[in-house]
This record gives sequence, structure tokens and C-alpha cells, in this order.
Amino acid sequence: MLQYEEQDYRNGQAVIQKCADRYLIQNPPSKPLEGKDLDDVYALPYTRAYHPSYEQEGGVPGLSEVEFSIIHNRGCFGACNFCSLAFHQGRYVTARSHESVIKEATAFGGNPRFKGYIHDVGGPTANFRHPACKKQAKSGVCKNKRCLFPTPCESLDPSHSDYLTLLRELKALPHVKKVFIRSGIRYDYMLCDKNSEFFSELVRDHISGQLKVAPEHKSGKVLYYMGKPSFDVYEKFQERYKRMNQRHKKEQYLVPYLMSSHPGSELSDAIELALQLKRYGYMPEQVQDFYPTPGTLSTAMYYTGIDPRTMKEVYVPRTPVEKAMQRALLQWGKRENRALVMKALKEAGREDLIGYTKDCLVRPDYGQTQRRPAQVKEKGTGKPKRRGRENKKWTGRS
Ligand code: SF4
Repeated sequence: MLQYEEQDYRNGQAVIQKCADRYLIQNPPSKPLEGKDLDDVYALPYTRAYHPSYEQEGGVPGLSEVEFSIIHNRGCFGACNFCSLAFHQGRYVTARSHESVIKEATAFGGNPRFKGYIHDVGGPTANFRHPACKKQAKSGVCKNKRCLFPTPCESLDPSHSDYLTLLRELKALPHVKKVFIRSGIRYDYMLCDKNSEFFSELVRDHISGQLKVAPEHKSGKVLYYMGKPSFDVYEKFQERYKRMNQRHKKEQYLVPYLMSSHPGSELSDAIELALQLKRYGYMPEQVQDFYPTPGTLSTAMYYTGIDPRTMKEVYVPRTPVEKAMQRALLQWGKRENRALVMKALKEAGREDLIGYTKDCLVRPDYGQTQRRPAQVKEKGTGKPKRRGRENKKWTGRS
């Protein structure tokens, strides 16, 4: 916690800890690169290509995703507890000038691989383009207060106008057909902006079918340990996103990033999240299982079982089996997860979720070699018979 509190370049001090017969020293954070310095870094003659030695192996496929992406900012005042960005870039957000970003995009025009699509104009959080509030530049970030957690700070500057102007300028370049935003956006910050112009243009022009957002969990308890806003903020955003898509006659989706087994998450929390996802009719393709990232508050919770913000005990799912169960619950419908989901529901005393009703997560155990009875055909018509008594009573056991 002490280390976390000393991350601000204005007020941060050196942190020294005695370890056996030595001392571990963390120097005060350096001053972040601001506008002109950042512009200079991005003006360097990067090749935007992999090293020629990869050519004989067929290149680096992953590069195509980022080859025409632009980083416009640095730092993140979101400061989620599991993310080390607040440590290595800091909470103080700085941004490149419009001229610098436009120059980079203009240079794409000379690249034969550029087809007119800028894949991303983002950074740690795409929609941050200035410090969280006016006072940060003079007095640094608050030590004992977060800018967006548990609710947005009343001093927050939620304006998206500068980012929007930048996107409009990029869009207007003659060789650019589309400008996408693929870095994550902070939807709670977006909702603070009373002006909906950015929201509207984001939905109309800058999404390639799917918008990635990171509610991370449903359980209020887990979100508290993650340092994320409550789930109803996500639901509010989801509702507005839907309406905005209707207004622009678009069919675009939200892709929520979710994390299993974060400190504080019990099986009951993972089940709560699974049920919510089921209500949405959405099962994520990928789930991130909590991993102790260097220096974060969540990692301190993971190793000590104590929340360093309160010094109170926190439950930590640590065993590989429990981690696997929590993860499997978020993809409850996958055949390969069935045994783990059953085990989790039994351990949590939630056998009521094993069954055939729409609220259940998994069907009863019917053994690996047994099959559901063949469909009974209607006499004469050959059509499948509507489920009668015998099918309703089917329990999966022969
Ligand atoms: S006043 Fe609010 S917005 Fe500004 S640094 Fe402090 S917590 Fe963040």
C-alpha cells in the first residue's frame, strides 16, 4: 500500500524496505513524458515492421493487428487493483499533440500495406486524453482517493471533446477510410460526460462490430476488491449502447472482459457471474484467470490474504482446482467444463442449478457413455413427437 501511495511523480518519495541484511529501494517515480517529449519519441523513425530475419518463417502474424494502430496517450487514472499500469506509467495521463498523431497517420499513406483502416487510436485506456482533474498538474494525484472508484470523483474532468476532435481530424485525412478504437475504453468515465457526442460518434464511426469493455465481474464484493465500479454502471452503459446502436441503425455488440478467481471471489461469486451471463445469453470465448501481476494491490491480497487498503482478511482462491472451477463456471456451457461446473455447484450447495429448467447451468450427470434417448417420431407423419411424459421424466439415467 505504501509503495502504491508513493507512485505519484509530484509527491512520491523513495520507499526503502529492509530485507534480511540488505535494503530494497524504490526510487521516486520519474516525471512522465508530456506532450512535446512524447511527440519526440513517436517521431523517431520506427520501421513498423518485424525484423527481416522473421521473413523466412512467414513473418509475424500478430503485427498486422497493430501495424496501423496509434498510441495517443500514456498513463491511466483508472488504477484497477489488479493492473500494474498505475505502477509503470502512473495515474497521471499525458497525451501526444494532434499534429504528432496526424503526422503518424499521414505517413501510413506511403505504406503499400495500408488499406485506409486505422486499427486503433488508443493506449492504456483509449478515452483518456488529459489528467483526471485540473489540480493534478499542480498538486499531483490524490494519495488516499481514487479518481473513478468507488464512484467517479466530483473533481473529475469528463470531457471527451479533445479526443473526439482528434478522431475527426484523423477521419478527414484523404487516405483514411475508417478509424477504429480497439483499446479498452472506460465506460464509467464515458458516462460522466454529459455531452453524448463522443458516445454517438464512437458507435456510428469507430467500432468494427464489437466494442471491448471490462466490467470484469458481477459480484459487488469482488468488484470492490478489484477497485472497479459496480455492475449496475455496466448495465447502464449497456442500455445506452443498445439505444445508441438503434439510433444509428447498427448491429454491434459489447465484448465484456471478465476475470475469474480474483482475491475476494468465492465459488458463490463465480456462480453469480455465470448466472448473469446466462441471463444475457452470452458465454465468453475467453476468460482471464487472475494472475498475480508484479507490484499490484491484488497481488498483495493474493500472497497475504489481506486487503492492504483496510488490513482486513480477504478470501483468496488459490488452489488449482478452485481456480479451474471458477474459470469453468464462466464458460459453463462448454462440454469440457461440465465436470468442473458440476463439482463447483455441488461444493457451493447449488444443486438447484443442476437440471433442465432455463435457470440451470448444467444438466444432471448422466455418465460419459449414456446418451439422451433418441427422439420419438410421430406415427404416420415421421415428425418428431412433442415431448410427452416419458421425455419430461427423463433424468439422463437409463
Ligand atoms: S481530486 Fe479526484 S480526480 Fe483529482 S486526483 Fe484526486 S481523486 Fe483523482
